[in-house]
Amino acid sequence: ESQLNPNYSFENFLEGDSNRLARSAGLAVAAKPGGTSFNPLLIFGGVGLGKTHLAHAIGVDIKDKYPEKTVLYISAEKFTQQYIDSVKKNNRNDFIHFYQIIDVLIIDDVQFLSGKSGTQDVFFHIFNHLHQNGKQVILTSDKAPVDMQDIEQRLLSRFKWGLSAELQNPDFETRVSILKNKLYRDGVEMPEDIVEYVAKNIKTNVRELEGAIISLIAQSSFNKKEITIELAKQIVEKFVKNTKREVSIDYIQKIVSDYFQMDVDTLQSKTRKRHIVQARQLAMFFAKKFTKASLASIGSQIGKRDHATVLHACKTVDNLSSTDKQFRKYVEDISKKLSV
Ligand code: ADP
Ligand code: MG
Repeated sequence: ESQLNPNYSFENFLEGDSNRLARSAGLAVAAKPGGTSFNPLLIFGGVGLGKTHLAHAIGVDIKDKYPEKTVLYISAEKFTQQYIDSVKKNNRNDFIHFYQIIDVLIIDDVQFLSGKSGTQDVFFHIFNHLHQNGKQVILTSDKAPVDMQDIEQRLLSRFKWGLSAELQNPDFETRVSILKNKLYRDGVEMPEDIVEYVAKNIKTNVRELEGAIISLIAQSSFNKKEITIELAKQIVEKFVKNTKREVSIDYIQKIVSDYFQMDVDTLQSKTRKRHIVQARQLAMFFAKKFTKASLASIGSQIGKRDHATVLHACKTVDNLSSTDKQFRKYVEDISKKLSV
């Protein structure tokens, strides 16, 4: 059983600037599994941007072109569970062997392996075996390899061997085509201005975009309500309200610099004065904690630093808050200000 969902096809995965690289790389891999330099192919991006869909599409297409190949899709969570069970039942070797004879292995949401060293270890061996034998590995993750935490270095370095392709937020045109495609497949007609209204207001999650349209269709067919802009507004509002508003990095810098009674320029400056360095490190730490921004993006927004500086800042804050009482109070105070 390959666990592939045939509805998640390339045909149904609409192309746009936001996904062109990942989609094309996926098509290339599907044409020649194990035979391109995209091995592993790692697809990364935020929630609801199509990682799972694209991963399936590659598998479905390979199965279509090469019916003799064994293709397996599994979430990292399920993989971990299977591994734990195999250890309990004393058949760890069978588990490893099962995975080593697969032609195309697709593991979804590998960020789930973070901190799970036993599973990482076994995956490392499976990965090496597959790779050495020219088998294809496809991975998805909510973060780029440089931003993954608590994943062993040797595994991260393997992740970087092939291609990491990002799925970004789709632009307006792409959002409209995704909605129209969905309506077309469901055989539903909807006025153009309503479709555009939804596409304009839901920007960062395709699952929510589709969810809003599905609610609209349901309201109109079950409650016999006419699909109006008013109805669309109500539904969109529900979706937008439910997605927790994220604090911005600018806001974090403002709160931290206010707390230490300095201005944001000072916080960002190149000075090595201890209290300013600490304020900057705290801003980086909170940006990591409260936003979805990558380390690289945090660094560039907080005084043009690189991702290693941000990583170092986060570790320093962690260390200091467990050893220095005064510092821990800073962290708690600022946390409170950011949480209200
Ligand atoms: P992720 O795994 O990144 O959280 P999913 O793959 O589950 O996201 O995608 C969420 C929903 O959005 C799915 O229903 C998927 O079919 C749809 N979707 C995402 N991107 C596209 C796209 N480019 N074209 C069509 N549908 C898409
Ligand atoms: Mg997914």
